Formats: sequence, structure tokens, C-alpha cells
Amino acid sequence: MAFDINTLLRENIKSLVPYSSARSEFQGQGNIMVDANENAYGSPLAQAYNRYPDPLQWDLKSKITAIKGVPPSNIFLGNGSDEAIDLLFRAFCEPGEDNVIILPPTYGMYQVSAQINDIACKEVPLLRNFQLDMEGIEASIDEHTKMIFICSPNNPTGNSIDVRSIETILMHFPGLVVVDEAYINYARQKSLTYALKEFPNLVVLQTLSKAWGLAGIRLGLAFSNEEIIQVLNQIKPPYNINQATQELALEALNGKNGITQVNQWIKDCVQQRGIMAAELQSMDQVIEVIPSEANFLLVRFEKVKELFQYLLKQGIVVRDRSSVPLCENSLRITIGKPEENRQILDAIKNFYQN
Ligand SMILES: *Cc1c(COP(=O)(O)O)cnc(C)c1O
Repeated sequence: MAFDINTLLRENIKSLVPYSSARSEFQGQGNIMVDANENAYGSPLAQAYNRYPDPLQWDLKSKITAIKGVPPSNIFLGNGSDEAIDLLFRAFCEPGEDNVIILPPTYGMYQVSAQINDIACKEVPLLRNFQLDMEGIEASIDEHTKMIFICSPNNPTGNSIDVRSIETILMHFPGLVVVDEAYINYARQKSLTYALKEFPNLVVLQTLSKAWGLAGIRLGLAFSNEEIIQVLNQIKPPYNINQATQELALEALNGKNGITQVNQWIKDCVQQRGIMAAELQSMDQVIEVIPSEANFLLVRFEKVKELFQYLLKQGIVVRDRSSVPLCENSLRITIGKPEENRQILDAIKNFYQN
């Protein structure tokens, strides 16, 4: 199926004349910079933050290219992945008219973002094994379906989605297939970025919020074909990634120690995940530990509500997912440091012994 971005874009976006900021009209270093109404002296902070940041974050993107192997023109950076999700809705979905498909149980932001943008969400629940219901998805697609959101590894279930199913959808669905890889660093499966050349309708989302340990600086990544990236860049707020975030992200990605450290954390987390899963599995009151490819475990417990309250009283805050369809009786537990994990296991054992 030939990809044509013009059949997907909203009319108002096609005819948009983007805002042109001072920093996008002049790039580089002049001697006297008086084009952007900034304070020429500096700021009270040690670092200078008096200048507007690079609207297209080229330094940071070239570093990301070096790590991910995706060219800068195929990268969009957002104020968290959440900004990329919202911008996709705003670019491609006509309020009150278009729809998207989501595959619950999954990440809540797709639905919230859809609702904010007045876009209908068609829900095609995952199968019992948390894989895609391919027939259900096919049956739900209509001429107004613009996007399908696939989270892999999925939050809150933790499993990876079968790549062949994703590729089948990419091949046959004429709209955008958004694959959210927030947890890809913990998975055996490799990123779908390898398929960007083959599938112009693919958008891959990643983030520095999880494995990279930088949830506080808000940096989300979207990889896609150049046309889609260009549209996102045109409709984003001009300076969506602030200077401090650009500097800190660059520092984290640059450090020789940085990547080594992150890889070590990922290894430790995966190892701890295995230990936690095995210990939980061995408890009589644990109904099921869902095999995880992420940095958390979804676990079905007996007396789940009481356990949740008990853990809270011990100061242990887990996510209660027991009211989510297909996640009955479950808590989602993020893998912490070894001593934290030990305390969680002990607390669960204590709860059931009393
Ligand atoms: C945590 C998470 C994100 C990250 O969102 P940011 O806005 O980048 O912090 C994205 N998708 C999923 C499924 C997540 O669980």
C-alpha cells in the first residue's frame, strides 16, 4: 500500500504557516545577538540560560543518531513521549470525526490524549496471552481510523508484542502504527527502528524516562519517516525542549561512563526481575507472575486489595491494577534496588503469614 501523508493529515495542518522563531531564522553564533529580545548579561545561575535554546536540538539529535543509528532528520524530540503522542493526534486526527485503535490493557495516555483532542478510541482488548487480536483489529478499522497504538513491551502487562503481528499491521494498515518502546531496553526483542526504512507509516516512541533514569528532565523520542517528523516539528511549540534538558541529556548520552552505567543498571534490573519473579512464583498465595520484558512485574495475588493496603501501611507504594480488565487481582511492581526488592518480598510474605 503506497503511503501518502496527505491522505492522513488534517486540512488545517496541511495549510499551516508555522511560527518562525528568531532562533530558527538565524542559526549559529553572531558577535552581537540582538534578534530575540533576550537579556544580554546572563542569568543569576552559574550556567548561562539567558538565550533561547536550539529549537531543533541538533547537537542532541546527532548524539542520538550515534547511539540509535537513526538519522537526525528521522528524529523528533518531545517534552516527554507524551508530547509526541499529543502532537500525533493534533496533526493527523480530525476532532469529532477520526478515530484511533488502542489495545487495552495498555498505557493510559493514548486514551487521555485522544479524549483531549476529541478523537474516538476504539478498544480491541489484547488476547488472554496479552498478544494482539489481529481479527479484532482488522474488523475495527474504518475509513476514519488514523492510528493504531501498540505498546511493546506493554505497560502494565510487561510482555513484548510479537513482531510479526506488528509487521503485518504495518503492511496492511494505511494509517500510522505507533509502537511505544518505553521499555525496550529491558526486552530481548530489538527496537523496531530497523523497520523505519521499510514502513513509512511506522512511528517508534522511546524515552529517557525509564532505563536512562531521567524521568525528571522530560525527554521523549519519536522516530519516523522525514515527512512525519517535519510535520511534528512544524506544530510543536518552538522551544519545546528547554536548554537545561538539552544539556543534561547530552551529558548523559555523552559520558563514556554514562552508557556503561545505564547498561549495568539494565542488567541488574533484569537479574533482579528474575529473582523477584521466582520468589513470588514460589508463594502459595501468588496466582500468577506475568513473564516480563520490562522493569516491572504484573503479579496476580490472592486478597489483592488487602495486600495493597498492607503494603501502603509499610510505606511500600505499588500500582493497583486489579480493576483493569484482564489484570484482575494484580499489582504492578517496579523493580527497585536489591535491598528494596528484598523488603517488598518480606512484606508480602509477612502479610500472608498473619
Ligand atoms: C513511562 C512510559 C512512557 C514515558 O513517557 P514520558 O512522557 O516519556 O515520560 C511512555 N510510554 C509508556 C508505555 C510508559 O509506560
